[in-house]
Amino acid sequence: MEFKSLRRQYKRLKPEIDKAIGEVLEQGQFIGGEQVRRLEEQLARYVGVQHCATCGNGTDALVLLLKALGIGPGDVVLAPAFTFFATAEAVSLAGATPCFVDVDFPTGNISPMALEQVLERQPWEKWGTAKAILAVDLFGLPPEYDIIDQIAKKHNLLLAEDCAQGFGGSFDGEQNGSFGSGAATSFFPAKPLGCYGDGGAIFTNQKEVAGLVKSLRCHGKGENKYENLRIGQNSRLDAIQAAVLQVKLAAYGGEAAAVERIAHYYTQQLQGWVVTPPWPQNRVSAWAQYTIVLPGQEARDGLQRFLQEKGIPTQVYYPTPLHLQKAYRFLGGRLGDCPQAEQLSRRGLSLPIYPDLLPEEEEAVCAAVKEYCRKRKLRASI
Ligand SMILES: *Cc1c(COP(=O)(O)O)cnc(C)c1O
Repeated sequence: MEFKSLRRQYKRLKPEIDKAIGEVLEQGQFIGGEQVRRLEEQLARYVGVQHCATCGNGTDALVLLLKALGIGPGDVVLAPAFTFFATAEAVSLAGATPCFVDVDFPTGNISPMALEQVLERQPWEKWGTAKAILAVDLFGLPPEYDIIDQIAKKHNLLLAEDCAQGFGGSFDGEQNGSFGSGAATSFFPAKPLGCYGDGGAIFTNQKEVAGLVKSLRCHGKGENKYENLRIGQNSRLDAIQAAVLQVKLAAYGGEAAAVERIAHYYTQQLQGWVVTPPWPQNRVSAWAQYTIVLPGQEARDGLQRFLQEKGIPTQVYYPTPLHLQKAYRFLGGRLGDCPQAEQLSRRGLSLPIYPDLLPEEEEAVCAAVKEYCRKRKLRASI
């Protein structure tokens, strides 16, 4: 069994993908052009926003978005302590400083209550002034954007969305990627919508933000590449990736339904045995990951080994919360600062989930998890 299988997806989509790539080779335009323009249009329509600008990868998308929102040196950005490193790294690359906020258990989404507490304490004096909240659609599930938006407005902060794992999910009927002043996503192959290399995009309803991203991604260009208005960078999606993504976007609806069905099956089989991901009424997850929570680290590590012996691959997302990462030691984060994030890194385990997972594989995963829990006399525990 594979943790993610892109080979099966390719087999399923092979005729369309080969044709799309072949067309790009025939057309001979490999950077920018019609393929990229068409994809940006389709993505904006899918997400339900006015503007989409693609770029080289998800990390660049976050950096470009933050810079276009005017975030830079002397600014502090509140971000969850439990996410992929790139969320915070992008804040630093934009010249600002992240302030880590604890998350909700067991979703791992930024906690509105912890946000309010941090905003009361304002522990960032040394680093500047708070400018924005960067929320993450962790594992595909959007956080409570209505509440977070209210908090942002109350404290005069911008809100931005890290949608790298969230493409395809929604909150109250609004697609992920449409929240706050702008969102960034990633097309890394294993993400919910992935290409065959690196890729990323930003979404926004603000024309100026989209315009700035389009300038910054191409050396800060003005009317053309050789008129440079600002210091930008080089970050572009190539035409082959854009062609692949158009095929995958067309297939995405069916894939999302398949993944949701697997998530339902896992939850129905595993609830009671382990803590399963919450299924909030008004939210749809993109199911980038299906992450269960065990009673403790020893049980989690034991289950991972047990499954490995049966040929079932799993992943620990994420073994170290960001406030405890070496790279951010200079911020002075300490064990105990973000207790829920720390719990999740010790106790969470992500199971294989993707549209082409076979029914017998789903069954094998659930049977093995239950067998382990039975043997170890474990039950779901908060
Ligand atoms: C993958 C990911 C990124 C970065 O995307 P890349 O395309 O790998 O640069 C950023 N944030 C989160 C939450 C991610 O999962």
